[in-house]
Formats: sequence, C-alpha cells, structure tokens
Amino acid sequence: MFNFILFGPPGSGKGTQSVKIAEKYNLVHISTGDIFRKNIREKTDLGLKVQSIIEKGELVPDALLIEILEDAMLQHSKARGFVFDGFPRTIQQANDLDAMLAKRNESVSIVLALTVGDDEILKRLLKRAEIEGRKDDTKEVIENRIKVYNSQTQPLIDYYKKKKKFQSLVGIGSIDDIFGGICRIIDSVI
Ligand code: ADP
Repeated sequence: MFNFILFGPPGSGKGTQSVKIAEKYNLVHISTGDIFRKNIREKTDLGLKVQSIIEKGELVPDALLIEILEDAMLQHSKARGFVFDGFPRTIQQANDLDAMLAKRNESVSIVLALTVGDDEILKRLLKRAEIEGRKDDTKEVIENRIKVYNSQTQPLIDYYKKKKKFQSLVGIGSIDDIFGGICRIIDSVI
C-alpha cells in the first residue's frame, strides 16, 4: 500500500492537492476536516461534540481521531493506499497512525510538506472566508489555527525526519505546478 501524508499549515493547499493526488494514483483521500464538517452539517453526535472546538480553531481530542481513522480505513479495506489530509496533527496521532498501520503490516510511505509562510496563509484564508464562509475562517480563529499548527503540529516534522520519511516542497505557485512537483516526488519513491 502507498500511505501518503500531505502535510502543511492551514491554507497551504492540502485539500486541493490531495484530491488530485488521490485521483491520479488511485488512492483514497481522507480529510479529517471534511469528515468533521460533514458531521457538523448532519448534526451527528460526533458533529455536536466537535463543533465548538473547531469553531474556536482548536484541535479535536486525539481519541476521536483514531475512531474516525479506524472507521475510514475499514470502509476502504481494499484501497491501494491513502492520502491523509489534515491528519496526523499531533505526535500522539502520529503514534496512533503508526500503530494502526502496523496492525495491517503497513507503514507511512512518505510525508510531504507544503511550505507556505504565515503572511501568505493569512491572506489565502481570509480570501477563502469571503468565498466559502467557513465558520473557522475569521481573522481571530485563523490566527489561532496558525498558532495551534506552530505549537502542536509542527513538531511532527522532526518526528518524520527522524524516520527518514520527510520531504518538503514550496507551496507557492500555480496549482498545476505544485501538483507537478508533488508527482515528481511521489514517482521517485513509489
Ligand atoms: P485547515 O487545514 O484549513 O486548518 P482542516 O479542514 O484540515 O482545515 O481542519 C479544520 C479543523 O478541524 C481544524 O482546525 C481542527 O479543529 C479540526 N481537525 C481536523 N483534523 C484534525 C486532526 N487531525 N486533529 C485534531 N483536529 C482536527
């Protein structure tokens, strides 16, 4: 299996690129943010539990993530592999993912980070706020999401560097150019 983690701060383009990667390489795209938003829209128990956390730009508790991931992987038991988008976001989640994949005799294949500076991120997310009206895209919440990313998620870079799984790519440019760069990296390891 090919288990690909697309990594990067909010607004780095993970969602857009993940869809393209999943399509080209025939992988299942798992966006934890999309799963949460769907549950919020449908007012499920999970949605009700996470709504206020997400609207503040905080992270959903790790224990909930594992349930969601187990569930998604079971639903796609015949998948050729996964593109993880927005997961893992904490060291605990990375450990849990390793354990979950190990149970299937699998492992993370590669972690690719899209690098985009804080100023550009803020600009992009404020623009998206005008278009999509996501509740967590207000200036205050965006700033909190960037802070949360820097403190809780960025440490994963060293975690995966130590495992020799980490690569990065500048996430600025056209969608197609960035996608081309991602494909070159995937093709070199697949
Ligand atoms: P973005 O990448 O733009 O921040 P996402 O759609 O990936 O947006 O996530 C939206 C929100 O959903 C996050 O701010 C967080 O509250 C919650 N969330 C998504 N994935 C995770 C995760 N792996 N761990 C904890 N919370 C998460």
